[in-house]
Amino acid sequence: MKFKYLILVMSLSIGLLSCSVSRESARQQPLQMVSPDLYATLYQQYAAEYKALCFQAYNLASLRLEQALTENYSKPTAIVLDIDETVLDNIPYQAAAIKGGFGYPVQWAEWMESANAEPLAGVTEFLQLAANTGVNIFYVSNRKEVFKEATIRNLQAKGLPFADEAHVLLRVSGNEKESRRKSISAEYEIIMLVGDNLGDFDRMFETDADVRMTATLEYAGQFGKKWIVLPNAVYGSWLETMPGYDTKLTKEALTDSLRMQLKGFNE
Ligand SMILES: [Mg+2]
Repeated sequence: MKFKYLILVMSLSIGLLSCSVSRESARQQPLQMVSPDLYATLYQQYAAEYKALCFQAYNLASLRLEQALTENYSKPTAIVLDIDETVLDNIPYQAAAIKGGFGYPVQWAEWMESANAEPLAGVTEFLQLAANTGVNIFYVSNRKEVFKEATIRNLQAKGLPFADEAHVLLRVSGNEKESRRKSISAEYEIIMLVGDNLGDFDRMFETDADVRMTATLEYAGQFGKKWIVLPNAVYGSWLETMPGYDTKLTKEALTDSLRMQLKGFNE
């Protein structure tokens, strides 16, 4: 009986030990064993922190909107929002691309035409507040014009206001958004801009990484005020303008090229 008890205690201890060892070795796995775009994509699909950041952005946007509406304007007021990773969640496309081993634009048209993207956390309440307080809403997105009908259908299906031909301004020629913002400004006072890419706020950010960073430091006071930023670690100008980022490289060469850009404490 005593011997049986000893065996039981020993096997339990070995079990617990191996469990803690495997947890420890999992912790020591080098991060580069997993592709960085996998982490970024999982973060936006699984991290409660990502949802919390979206709520934070839109809670702040509501507060700033109410403050902005205490001012007098000579023109009707408007807010301008980007669509992808600002209003609608496109990460299911990215997830399918990683799992299927393909990249943009493969299956992008299918994703657009499905008109099935979900609104980001907090955006629906914010847009309803804006609409209810008499603010006009414009969606300025670099989705191609060919997807305009599907985009409007998607926004309408999710109950988002101002989802119509006149308020959804997609990309007709270049990626720049300034000309579309200017055409809105001709008739409306833009009191807020919301986006996940700094180019959603001002043309000065549509440039190289150093200038983007310098301008961000210079205009620090605008963020969380007139400019509301949503997080997006999966894609965007931050990545496209990064030194070492070159899509013509093979996956391995691109990984090496980007790894060279890391700024270690011991260099
Ligand atoms: Mg976007």
